[in-house]
Amino acid sequence: MIPGPIKFDKDVLREMSKPTLGHLDPAFVEIFSETLKNLRKVFFCKKGQPFIVSGSGTLAMEMAACNFVEGGDHVLVVNTGCFSDRFVSIFERYGANITQVKCALGDTPSLSDIEKEIVKREYKLVTITHVDTSTGVLCDIKAISEIAKKHGILTIVDGVCSIGGEEFYQDRWDVDISLTTSQKPIGVPPGLAILMVSKMGMEIFRKRKTRVKNYYCDFNNWLPIMESYENKEQKYFATPSVNLIYALQQSIKKMLKEGMKSRFKRHKIISDLFKKSMSELKLKTVSKPEKSAHTMTALYYPEGVDKSILVKIRGNGVVVAGGLHPAIKDRYFRVGHMGIVNKKDIFITISAIKKALLSIENQKLS
Ligand SMILES: *Cc1c(COP(=O)(O)O)cnc(C)c1O
Repeated sequence: MIPGPIKFDKDVLREMSKPTLGHLDPAFVEIFSETLKNLRKVFFCKKGQPFIVSGSGTLAMEMAACNFVEGGDHVLVVNTGCFSDRFVSIFERYGANITQVKCALGDTPSLSDIEKEIVKREYKLVTITHVDTSTGVLCDIKAISEIAKKHGILTIVDGVCSIGGEEFYQDRWDVDISLTTSQKPIGVPPGLAILMVSKMGMEIFRKRKTRVKNYYCDFNNWLPIMESYENKEQKYFATPSVNLIYALQQSIKKMLKEGMKSRFKRHKIISDLFKKSMSELKLKTVSKPEKSAHTMTALYYPEGVDKSILVKIRGNGVVVAGGLHPAIKDRYFRVGHMGIVNKKDIFITISAIKKALLSIENQKLS
């Protein structure tokens, strides 16, 4: 129950053990083609350009940054925690002029603060972390994207901890670039960087004046590959993670079978159930209640409890994660509830936490 890698479906894992086809084998090309086509349904992005590349979520962030930024471009980072900080570090490498809109820990910057900043200069793009995995905060992508569009700037959404679990509608919300990875709500072992770029996003990309400063990440190298695979033609740039693509094909099939909207609803039900139980145990979320994600929960340790409780919870059969945000690292822990998670999983988790708290109480009494 950590916020990634999550627990994977058995059928997805089984795909990993199948014989590895050549990356140009017609049977593999067929699988890749279907996967690219179906990915659009996961992102609710009918005409988007998907990219599936070997790497982790950070690579997807790097691809978004280096393909859209040219030296001196102004970028705005809506900062909600560690993964927004990471975007800042990436943009620095590519010579962007970075401005950040910050907020209190556990909150999101207000829409008016964001708009006040956007009107100050000619921004090329704004980045938003949909679910910040360091705080469990959920950003209102729809509202921020609306502001960005009003002022004609591109939106990049880091959906690593959200896409496939939280409500996300790329077309409807007018998001240009969204990105994720395999091992979180997408439900596939680590190793894939995944992006979806809107038509407008690709048009802006084509207007670049300078060369992309990263060879492996360059869309100019990957676009012909993605187009070829989709059209069932063989083409090579760098060897894809063949077995992970099998697994992704399977995981997406399962997501679509469940239905994306039912999936979003299931995440919400499980999250609400978990958060309600935690509040009954007097555990407070790091995120403001009205700005909390549904794919994970970040919780402060109660009085007199520290990270040694994680070992106790583990002893009760459930693995949860420690803190990540440097400001409060040792004061809170994180629970992931995304992907194939069901009610039984969450009841077992609640009971493991309850038992651990009880054993600490008993220790104090004796
Ligand atoms: C996990 C995560 C990342 C980084 O992904 P890696 O696969 O670890 O590189 C980036 N952004 C968010 C929001 C994440 O949760």
